Amino acid sequence: MQHSTDLKDYIRTIPDYPKPGIQFRDVTTLFNSPRGFRIAIDKLLHPYAGLEIDKVVALEARGFILGGAVAHQLALGFVPIRKSGKLPGNVLQEQYELEYGQDTMEIHDDALHKDERVLIVDDLIATGGTCEAGIKLLRRVGADIVGAAFIVDLPELGGRKKIEAMDVPVHVLCNFEGD
Ligand code: AMP
Repeated sequence: MQHSTDLKDYIRTIPDYPKPGIQFRDVTTLFNSPRGFRIAIDKLLHPYAGLEIDKVVALEARGFILGGAVAHQLALGFVPIRKSGKLPGNVLQEQYELEYGQDTMEIHDDALHKDERVLIVDDLIATGGTCEAGIKLLRRVGADIVGAAFIVDLPELGGRKKIEAMDVPVHVLCNFEGD
């Protein structure tokens, strides 16, 4: 484990969190490891090195930890997409479906201008609903989405396919079976 280059070795699974039947893939153990965190950031940004990108856009909240490091390493600006009520300026909103009910994501309406090239970053893609809401916000401001990068994909939930069907290339570092 201490010398592993397999990122799955650094990700802890917590059964039945936040509710029975969910296998929570906990990346705080990856962030906790100097080696795991460094490898994750290197692998996450690898496909984008040298490309024309202006900003990294990250999804609340674990996406911010990754997105900040990727933005720094690629020398790009950083834009947060947050749950409703957290951003202080004027925002655009996009609702998305949760398993039970709805939630809302927001972006500052002046965070990006038309045709800016952006990379989306989050820790994990499950159903893809959160990322889909982010893509809709970015398209409303006219941004050009270069790709979406995640540490973990849960393929059975179909999120990756949903995002690729929106013409956004997806980069993931590892898969876990189940949900
Ligand atoms: P989704 O919108 O369904 O793609 O869910 C993605 C968001 O929910 C990500 O920001 C994840 O952090 C979180 N998430 C969903 N399912 C899990 C899971 N099994 N383990 C850890 N995080 C999860």
